[in-house]
Amino acid sequence: MAKKVAKKTTRKKATKKAPVKKTAAKAGAKRPSFKISGAANAGLVQTGGLFYKHEPNTTVMACVIPRMDPEGLENGLIWNTQSLHYGPDNAKFKNPDNPERTIAPGCLQEHGDGDCYICNVADWLKQNDDFRLKALGEQLAPSQQIFCQVWIFDQTKKEWYGPRLYKSGGCSKTIYKGINSLLNMAEQMGSAPFCDPDNGQPIALIREGSTMNDTRYSVQQTGQPMPYDKMDPDWLSKAITDVDAKLDLRVMDINEQKQLLFQTLPDLPWEDIEREVG
Ligand SMILES: [Zn+2]
Repeated sequence: MAKKVAKKTTRKKATKKAPVKKTAAKAGAKRPSFKISGAANAGLVQTGGLFYKHEPNTTVMACVIPRMDPEGLENGLIWNTQSLHYGPDNAKFKNPDNPERTIAPGCLQEHGDGDCYICNVADWLKQNDDFRLKALGEQLAPSQQIFCQVWIFDQTKKEWYGPRLYKSGGCSKTIYKGINSLLNMAEQMGSAPFCDPDNGQPIALIREGSTMNDTRYSVQQTGQPMPYDKMDPDWLSKAITDVDAKLDLRVMDINEQKQLLFQTLPDLPWEDIEREVG
């Protein structure tokens, strides 16, 4: 999981930057001037990353930050979701702007007006009798991620740091359910939710076990009030207001999706697909 996240950040970073220009070393050319930059070298590996990595058998204290984008504010949300198409297992989608990199475009069912070409092709493939096409259809289906923005307590330095994105992974999404049940409880009791910046409190996110089969997640309220200004006086200015933009979410229109699919899977029965899917 961590690997995936790291890969993602590198990929995203790369899309932001202009491609490195290759200047051919001409024979007898003048010696270049070497201006070594510590900051540029240090910036290549992201320490920590934006997504928080919850180590096995640890309990972390977290303050959950409510969403601050218009949709999140209007609906009172703390969770962000992204549905991404990663492409087939053995041929991840190549970034059209940089074929050395892969790309996972946002699903238009969630990030567009509802009609997603990749989903439509995936659904068509899944209904096929050919088991290889069926399997490919499964692989093309979108994968949904759900995460919230948090500040984390560093137990060594005894201080809060953030923002980080905490992903509720696994099939059961226990952290997601646990946090929602705390919100529901506060609502029924008419009390401030734990993530209220003025009257909130940190929650404990608990991870027991280390393997896929024995890992259990749970959430507990600490009961310790903690105004977020006390947690970090600059939390409001540091917080991510547009998570999709921060994560470089790439949303392609139907034509771009079509081109991406065709380039990745030229051997599909495109005549049948065009006739039945469009
Ligand atoms: Zn889709």
